[in-house]
Amino acid sequence: MPQDRKRQRPNILITGTPGTGKTTTSSALADAAQLRHVSIGDLVKEKSLHDGWDDELQCYVINEDLVCDELEDLMEEGGIIVDYHGCDFFPERWFDRVVVLQTENSILYDRLTKRGYEGAKLSNNIECEIFQILLEEAKENYEENIVVALRSDTVEDVASNVETLANWANNWQPLS
Ligand code: ADP
Ligand code: MN
Repeated sequence: MPQDRKRQRPNILITGTPGTGKTTTSSALADAAQLRHVSIGDLVKEKSLHDGWDDELQCYVINEDLVCDELEDLMEEGGIIVDYHGCDFFPERWFDRVVVLQTENSILYDRLTKRGYEGAKLSNNIECEIFQILLEEAKENYEENIVVALRSDTVEDVASNVETLANWANNWQPLS
């Protein structure tokens, strides 16, 4: 059991295919439950925790070791929401809950085209959602009983997911 935790508040990982609503949900949950939202994408940019720009994938090549080093102290303190479209390189012991957001394909397609995604970037992400890659990745890397898949199709879904997760976080008990 990876439970040598000293934290007084839980850490939550919010993952899912790009466009499923990770940032929207994380930021609302941070307000509702007084947790701190850490967007890995923003952190990588701000602190240059990358090995350059990938022209083909149109994104930074994230340096996973630098990201984990950067976050270790914060995660130990607890009360952090980590927002990222991947979950296989974080230490398992960091998280008390792993949330995988899922969105119906046609809805996701519209969100991603609005964001300007096209070609391989668009189709890769739609495939990622169809094959439930993030849910599989979460189940492979964390205990199944902390992994939860939540639907994120509508704004009502966001509100109810935030409410559920805020209740969970506020009732979470540290190990005595
Ligand atoms: P992610 O961080 O997973 O890439 P975002 O939170 O940035 O996703 O959301 C992408 C876009 O989709 C935003 O314009 C957001 O307002 C919208 N969106 C996200 N989740 C929902 C939802 N459940 N219902 C309606 N719109 C949503
Ligand atoms: Mn985001």
